[in-house]
This record gives sequence, structure tokens and C-alpha cells, in this order.
Amino acid sequence: MNNLIFNFKSKDSKKIKNPKNLLGGKGANLSEMGRMGLPVPPGFTISTKVCEIFYKDKKKLNSKLTNQIKKEIKKIEKDVSKKFGDLKNPLLLSVRSGARVSMPGMMDTILNLGLNDKTVVALANKTSNGRFAKDSYRRFIQMYGNVVMGVESYNFEELIENYKLTKGVLLDTDLDEEDWDGLINDFKNVVKEKTSKDFPQDVYHQLFGAISAVFLSWESKRAKVYRKLNQIPSEWGTAVNVQSMVFGNMGNDCATGVVFTRNPSDGSNDIYGEYLINAQGEDVVAGTRTPQYITKKARKEAKVVDASMEESMPEVYHKLYKILKKLEKHYKDMQDVEFTVESNKLWILQTRSGKRTSKSAVKIAVDMVREKLINKNDAVLRVDPNSLDTLLHPTLDERSSIKVIANGLPASPGAVSGKVVFSSEEAERLNEMMQDTILVRVETSPEDIQGMHAAKGILTSRGGMTSHAAVVARGMGRPCVSGSSEIEINYDKKVFKTSSTEIKEGETITIDGSTGRIILGTVPTIKPEISGDFSKLMSWADKIRKLKVRTNSETPLDTQTARDFGAEGIGLCRTEHMFFDEERILSVREMILSKTLDDRSNALKKILPHQKKDFMEIFKIMHGLPVTVRLLDPPLHEFLPKSDKEISEVANVVGSDKKDIESRIEELHEQNPMLGHRGCRLGISFPEIYEMQCRAIFEALADLKKNKQKFAFPEIMIPLVSTEAEIKIMKDLVINTARKVQKENKTKIEFLVGTMIELPRAAIKADDIAKHAEFFSFGTNDLTQTTFGISRDDSGKFLNDYIDNKIFTIDPFVSIDDGVKDLVEIAVSKGKKQNKKIKLGICGEHGGDPKSIKFCSKAGLNYVSCSPYRVPIARLAAAQAELTKNKN
Ligand code: PEP
Ligand code: MG
Repeated sequence: MNNLIFNFKSKDSKKIKNPKNLLGGKGANLSEMGRMGLPVPPGFTISTKVCEIFYKDKKKLNSKLTNQIKKEIKKIEKDVSKKFGDLKNPLLLSVRSGARVSMPGMMDTILNLGLNDKTVVALANKTSNGRFAKDSYRRFIQMYGNVVMGVESYNFEELIENYKLTKGVLLDTDLDEEDWDGLINDFKNVVKEKTSKDFPQDVYHQLFGAISAVFLSWESKRAKVYRKLNQIPSEWGTAVNVQSMVFGNMGNDCATGVVFTRNPSDGSNDIYGEYLINAQGEDVVAGTRTPQYITKKARKEAKVVDASMEESMPEVYHKLYKILKKLEKHYKDMQDVEFTVESNKLWILQTRSGKRTSKSAVKIAVDMVREKLINKNDAVLRVDPNSLDTLLHPTLDERSSIKVIANGLPASPGAVSGKVVFSSEEAERLNEMMQDTILVRVETSPEDIQGMHAAKGILTSRGGMTSHAAVVARGMGRPCVSGSSEIEINYDKKVFKTSSTEIKEGETITIDGSTGRIILGTVPTIKPEISGDFSKLMSWADKIRKLKVRTNSETPLDTQTARDFGAEGIGLCRTEHMFFDEERILSVREMILSKTLDDRSNALKKILPHQKKDFMEIFKIMHGLPVTVRLLDPPLHEFLPKSDKEISEVANVVGSDKKDIESRIEELHEQNPMLGHRGCRLGISFPEIYEMQCRAIFEALADLKKNKQKFAFPEIMIPLVSTEAEIKIMKDLVINTARKVQKENKTKIEFLVGTMIELPRAAIKADDIAKHAEFFSFGTNDLTQTTFGISRDDSGKFLNDYIDNKIFTIDPFVSIDDGVKDLVEIAVSKGKKQNKKIKLGICGEHGGDPKSIKFCSKAGLNYVSCSPYRVPIARLAAAQAELTKNKN
């Protein structure tokens, strides 16, 4: 086995350990289907290893490779009794990319390769179908001209459009053999004009050009963007599949289609797909013709009259149905299958695990356990935790007034409102200004990927459920309504029309990707409810996971949401957020600007009842579970008055001059507030602030106890500690305040005192700190900031350059960095050595990131804490971490 080129039927590929890594997803599945005896057109895969060699050899295919490719072509020739470049019975090939994971539409494909001025005549004679042969040749020139020779597609399209105008016809199908003959000449001339080269007539020259182009497309801009968004390493490279062509466009007994073994939108166990009679594959995906349904049931549900495949090609349909069931059983997963029917013979072109909505992923996983196709652990591993985000998205509040202006296909679920934009650039521009947009396009292409990411939702007027817009939006978790033929878009005027209204760029619409509705204005949405299959999957995950999942929350609403989502306590209650409330901000300002301790204490007394009330609410909601309350953290100047009016207000209350206030504000100014007077440094300078907060916590608990109400178990957390002395002083303060409140209320209150580990020194000296801390909570936001010395607030401006230059594969504030991991591990080890019983958790944003959760599980933490909507994601990710703990 030489690891370079594999025939689909070769037994060698069975011996490969991770076939997808070497053969790409498409190649690995073609080999497997070949060995299963399914009707796969003969061919071979050029492995990802060759991609590596290609780039090392300065983007050239060396002679060893070209010789081996030639040998493989001979094998196909033998298999199909045709010859490459033959003047009687020519073999035509498809050349397609196939990376380890599917990257829909990102890389290049070339069909009908092997046609030239002579073989096209042979094909016409052989098939007795001159029109078909010429149409195939012009498609080939178009694709090859574009992908390999770099002639922009519109040059060819313009020629066709002009030709149709002169002839006075509307559709491509109205053009006959002679018309295509003329256009073929025009196409070749355009190629010559734009590239100063003749369109290649040598079939091997064509083949090697196409293979090189596919390798080159791995480094295309759109592929790079897709990789970045989906965290696909650039070293993986792509494989290339060379396969004997079969034709879905030879007449009305031919067809091509895409079919899922279950419904990718709602997960129901019905095959679901689209096909087109007398067409080639790209016609279905590109959305240039509206495809028909595969099953009668789907056709009827959609109230469409055009016959489904089940009705128009019943025999082939039944063969396809059987193969789909076989494939699903074999792969034990829902499959997305491309097929072609050539003169009533069915060919399977590819199968892959089907992309699906999160709703469908959950249903399919749970159903497959019921059907005994997979077990519960498999089911838990089947659902991407990040994808749950869409399941947890709000839906439209049906009680509000909903003015539907048009309908389309429910391509990707979720309801969202935003300003209409007609270009990806505009979506990106407004996104930078924090404005929500709906990207409205006739159809999307891979160039739109950044705009689709920047927009909150996507609406297209053309294309089916397997169109680019639908597939990509589902993958991204963006709500999408596709193929709405009820809207007419005018890019020049920047408007779209429906039968009743005209919408201009900048106007707000709402789209409902679960039903396909397009609605004027903003519609209120409601919180999703977790039930049925979702709860079942979650209950399986909960049984598997060892990590607890808490939430970061400081409002009663968020706390309740998190508890409903299964949070097992609060891991971080940022008390400063309670200071910003309109009612109390004046007292907070008064407190900060006070010159004397007495004045400050007076102001604090005014804040105390508010804090106490907040804590009571939260402790009630989280009854029976731990709640970590963090004492005040941010720099004081964040609370300072800014406008003239605010300054006058404070001056009034404090009873001092406006000028005095302004000079105090000046005094409090810091050059580097993130590294300044914040965290426990405030507690050291102004212990009365922390005392007030502790008093509010303990009094809240004492009152709840007195009133016989259920309450949470408090954990008091000291922020931004870096030395043993800091934690010791602060712990004494907490304990003394607790003593006083207990004495005053004649009650006993249980609590823990611990600290955040969010500074490198704290991690390195964790043993000293653990002498006084009953728990550590890793504040990986600050720990990342201080480990790199990169400001959390400003990193957005240059992080992209770091990702583009491959310095970072991912933003370290999103997924935990290796260096930060090391610091966490040091702190865990030293902390445990000092205090065997120390409780360990994480409350930085990484606590809701599946990859970081896997690390937390490995590092031996007891819990992760994340924002309320990420709680289910973290529960599932924690279970997956447990199931894959021995894998990387
Ligand atoms: C942290 O630093 O990780 C943390 C959770 O605290 P904050 O984000 O409030 O600084
Ligand atoms: Mg912090």
C-alpha cells in the first residue's frame, strides 16, 4: 500500500486506520459503497497525502503520480469498456474534491472531463443524441474554463443570455445542437481571449489540470473562510476523486437528485429529497431550476402538482429506497445521498452523514436508540453540543400580530428580526455596528459565507432545501427561509416586492425558519421549552457526566431560566451588575465619591437593602443548590458619573461642589483599569464595601431561614487574588461579618469562602492560596488576558490577524489556550496538595465551550459554570467529555 492512490474497489482501503483522514469523507464512503456492492460508477481516490506532496512540490503533480494516475485510468477503461480520449466510445470523468469533513460548495468540481472537439462527435454518435453531447461539452468548457483556467463564469453566462435574446427564447432547453455548436466556439474564443491559451484538447492535460485545480481550491479564499469558521485545520488538505461519468441529462429517462434517509429538518423517519429529470447534479444544488420532491407524501404535503420521483420513476424509486435503508443501517446514521439515473439505471454518486437541524439531530439520535440501531452513549455523542443553540432559540409569539407578506421553505429553524440588506458586505458592515440584519438574496453562493455569518437570518427567493443557502445556514445555526418564489428581488433598486408590498433596504422584517414565513416588522419571540426527545437525551447525558454544570447569573430571570435548563447552582454571581441598577447607581456614586469613611458608610447603608433583596430572590430560586457570590470586582471609575447632568446630581446628593466632584473623578482615573484598582484590591482599600456585601448576603439568608423559606448554599468568592495575604485578610473580613450577622439574628449560617484563580501568580502560588480558600473558581477570562498580556477589551481589533497568520487557530477567549491550561493544571495540582477537599470550578466564558469543557473534565474540576442558554450545551458537552476521556 503506497498511501497515494486508491481504487474504489481496492481491498487496500479496508486496511486504512482512519480512512476519512487519507481518502477524505467522500472517497472513504465511495470505497465502502464499492465494497458493499452498491452501484457506484468506477473510479479512484487521490489521497490527502498527495495534496501535501503537491504543495511541497511547488503546486505540481510529479511524474510518479501522473504515471500512477494513468494506470488507474486504464482500470476504469477496462471496467466500463470505454477509452479515455477515444474517438468511438470515449470515457468521460468527473473530478471532485473530498476533504475529511464535508465543506459544501467550498471547493471545485469538474464534470464531463475528456470531451474535446473530436470526442464530442464520438459521444454524439454513440448516444445518438447530438444535443446532449454538445450541451455536455459546453458545460465542460464552462467549468474547466472557470475553475482551471480562471475565466470568470459571467463571461460564459453572458454569451448564453445574449444568444437566447437573439434567438428569442427564454430557456436553455430551447437551444438545440447547432446553437450549442455556435456557443462552444464562442466559449473557446472567450477562453483564448482571456487566457491567451487554447482550450486544451489533450485529455490527460485536462485531467492533470483538473486535479491540480482541486488541490489549489483547498487554499481558495472561500475555503479558508469556511475552515476558519468551522475550525478545520489547514494541514488536513483535500483528496480528489476521479470517477467515470454517468449522465442524468441524456433524456427523460434520466434524472439526478439529492436525498436524505430521514427528514433533515424535523428528523421524522421519512426519506426526504429533491430530484430533477434530465439534469446534471449542479442544477439541483445551484437552485437554477426548482427541483421536484422524491416522495409522493412530501409532494402532497407541499401541495405541489408536479410528479414526485416515486410517481414518475416507480421502479428506480424502489431501488433507491432499498439502497437508502441499507446505507443507513450500515453507517448507523442518517445519510445524505447523491444519485443519478442514466437511462433508467440508478447510480449512487456519494453518501455522507447528513447535515441536519439540531431538532432533527436530537430526534434522530433518540429514535435510533428506540430502533436499537445505536446505544444511548452513541446518541449522546451524535449531537453537537454547540448546535443546541438553535434548539434553544426563541420562537415567534403567535399571540402577537403577525403580518405574513410571503412564504418560503423552512430551511433552518429559529425566528429572527433584522434590517433587510441585499449584500454580504452590507450585512458585515451593519454587524460591526451591532445591528441585526436579514440577508436577502436571489440565491447565495460560497462567496456569501462571511455575510451569512454576519447576518442574523437569511432569505432567498430561489433554491430548494438542499440549496447552498439552506445547507450552509443549517450548518451555521442561522434561521433561513429559502426558495421564496413569492418575492421578487431588485438588487439595483435595493428593494424586494411581494404581491402586496414593497420592502426597502433598511426596513425591518422577521423570518421564521421553522415555518417559512416572512413577516413585516419585528415580532416578539418566546422562550423555547425543553421537552420530549430533548429531555430524554439530556437525561442520558446527565447520567453519564461527572462534571456538574452551574450558571453565571445575577438576575432572578436569568437564574430561573438557568435552573429550568438544568443548572445545578450558580458558579458566578457578578455583584457589580447589581450596582448598575438605575435606582441605586446614585447611591453607588455617592459611596465612591465620599471623602470620609462616615460618608461612605452612609451611602453603603442605602445600597444594602437593595443588595439584600437581590440575594434573597436568587437564593430562593436556587434553593438546595450552591450559589457563588463574587464580591465587587471592576474598577470603581466604571460607576463614575459621565455627563454633566449626572455629575450635578451626585454633587447635589453629596453636598459638594461640582468642581470637587470633577477633580475626584480625575483622581480616580486609571491608565490601565483592567490591571488597576479592582477585585480584592478594592476590598483592601475600602473593606466597608465588602463588609456591606457580606452583610447583605448573610442577612438575606438569615431572613429566609427565619421565614422558613428554602434557600441556596452560599459560597463567598474573592476576586483577583494573587497573594496569600490578600485571601487571608479577605477571608477574615467575611468570617467576622458572618459572626456579627449570626449573633444579631441568633442563627447559624453555613458558608464557604474561596477565591477566583484568574492571575498567573495565583495559579503558580495556588498552594499558598489554598491554605485559606475552600474553593477555587478559574476566571479564565482574566487568566487568558493576563497570561497573554492581551487586553480582553481590545483583542477584537487584531485577533483576526493572529488567526489569519495561524498564530492562533481559535480565539483564546473562546476556547481555552494550551498555556492557560497549563496554569490551570498547576493550580489544580498545588491546590489539591495543600487542601485535598478543595472544590474546583471554572466560571470564565470557557465554561460554556465544549472543547474547554473537555479539558475541565480531564483536569479534574468539579463543575463548569456558563451563561443560562449554554447550560444544556455544557450538560451535553460534559457527558461527551466523559465518554471520550481517553481520546484526544
Ligand atoms: C473571569 O475573569 O474569567 C471572570 C469570570 O470574571 P470577569 O469576566 O467578571 O472578569
Ligand atoms: Mg475576572
